[in-house]
Amino acid sequence: MNPPRPRFWRLFDSAPIRQGLRLVWESGRGWTVLQVTLLVAQGAVPVLALYLTKALVDVVTAALAGGSRDLGRAALLVGLAAGIAFLGVALRLVSGLVAEVQSIRLSDRVQDVLHQKSVELDLQYYESSEYHDTLHRAQLEAPHRPARIVGDLSQIGLGAVSLLGMMGLLVSFDWVLVAVLLGAALPSMAVKASFSQRLYRWAHRQTLAQRLSRYLNTVLTSVDFAKEIRLFGLGQVFQDRFQVLRRSVNEDKLRLVTGRIGFDLAAQVIAIGAVFGSVYLIVRRALNGSMTVGDVVIYMVAFQRTQDFFRDLLSGFAGLYEHNLFLSDFRKFTELRPTVVEPAPPKPFPRPLRRGVSFDHVTFRYPGTEIDILKAVSFEIHPGEHVALVGENGSGKTTLVKLLCRLYDPTAGAIRVDGIDLREFAIADVRAGTTVLFQDYARYQLSARDNIWLGNVALPTDSPRIVEAARQTNADSVIAGLPEGYDTLLGRQFGGGTDLSIGQWQRLALARA
Ligand code: ADP
Repeated sequence: MNPPRPRFWRLFDSAPIRQGLRLVWESGRGWTVLQVTLLVAQGAVPVLALYLTKALVDVVTAALAGGSRDLGRAALLVGLAAGIAFLGVALRLVSGLVAEVQSIRLSDRVQDVLHQKSVELDLQYYESSEYHDTLHRAQLEAPHRPARIVGDLSQIGLGAVSLLGMMGLLVSFDWVLVAVLLGAALPSMAVKASFSQRLYRWAHRQTLAQRLSRYLNTVLTSVDFAKEIRLFGLGQVFQDRFQVLRRSVNEDKLRLVTGRIGFDLAAQVIAIGAVFGSVYLIVRRALNGSMTVGDVVIYMVAFQRTQDFFRDLLSGFAGLYEHNLFLSDFRKFTELRPTVVEPAPPKPFPRPLRRGVSFDHVTFRYPGTEIDILKAVSFEIHPGEHVALVGENGSGKTTLVKLLCRLYDPTAGAIRVDGIDLREFAIADVRAGTTVLFQDYARYQLSARDNIWLGNVALPTDSPRIVEAARQTNADSVIAGLPEGYDTLLGRQFGGGTDLSIGQWQRLALARA
């Protein structure tokens, strides 16, 4: 798969950012308003501090020049400066706390969206590597990017407020100088934006390797593989493969990061050159006698801070650009649509069946493959009939059953229930009207009761039908041998559980079915 080559103008396709902001808003309106207010208030702090410093320096200079010694005013100014410093710290602390709350809520909300979508999509997506790549990137990036959008938007707002305050002071000095100073901050933004693109392309390039390494990690650490890993002595083999993969991913990332340093340094040389060029100009004017000491101090600090604020502002924009890139995967994921679709309006599923099930020239090919697994298969099953499908491994028996529960739709032909095409029923009705015990049934690490109840969650968890299902399938003899009967936790991954044999698990799966 070719990683998309993002361009800077994609910033203006801001749909991912808008989706991110919506998530932020939905996961806590009050917190969002509070955070934005706190951040903008922080923007005023350095400007106020600087004006106070200037006032203080002016009091001192006046006294040194032999004027009045206004100690009361000096004390007041120092007190105010201390108050402002404290306010700055307090605002930062509180806004850090709010950011933490926001990020927790947001992360939960994003997981919720991802889970919902994963369940809604049909099985065919799980067989596509691209789907897993997109999901992997969405899972990696979506939980933290939206909060960072808020951070960057606030940084932009904050930078703008502070910048305006400083500009008021500086334009009177020399507006050309101000323009040069601001211009000198641009290269650093260009470096950041270009690095974001590279980072995004790196993330795309490495998704498969990252997923593979995660899979190898599962093989090495999960119980499903533990027996074979020991029996065949596979630990070292998988460890070696894991390390080779990690090394290649890490080297690629390191190359990316080191490649940036040169550009960063060059951008900084320009920015710092501009600041100290202006410092020289200020000093020259002061030596010519056209400025007070207070002016010199203030302008020196102000020029430096102006550039800092402008850089923050630009860096906020560059950040937005990066989040937009990375959130495009989340957006892509949430825009996936199931291919097995609901009819509108659905027909009622017949209960009981009168004519039975018929396959009419059903042909099926798994999505993304080249071979027809079923070719024009036709047969009928009447109510009350017991039918066994017999055939070699891989001949398509399971596939046929999967079509019958509408996990997939036929490529051609039709499956009908009482003469009505399966695609005309609500999907949930079809699934509720059929039941399957697959070879690879699930083993839920929950209580024995829950393992059966999950077959029909519309029932209360203490429904007598659970015991009835267990009796009909002989699962009750398995449950009778468990220390806490139906309430025994099965599996041993979560403490205090009891494990079952494969055959016993299968009994429970049958009761669930
Ligand atoms: P069986 O008759 O043993 O139940 P299946 O219906 O499971 O056979 O499989 C029939 C064929 O379909 C096999 O050749 C298998 O390789 C292929 N197949 C099964 N599942 C998939 C899938 N999800 N994607 C692609 N091919 C599949």
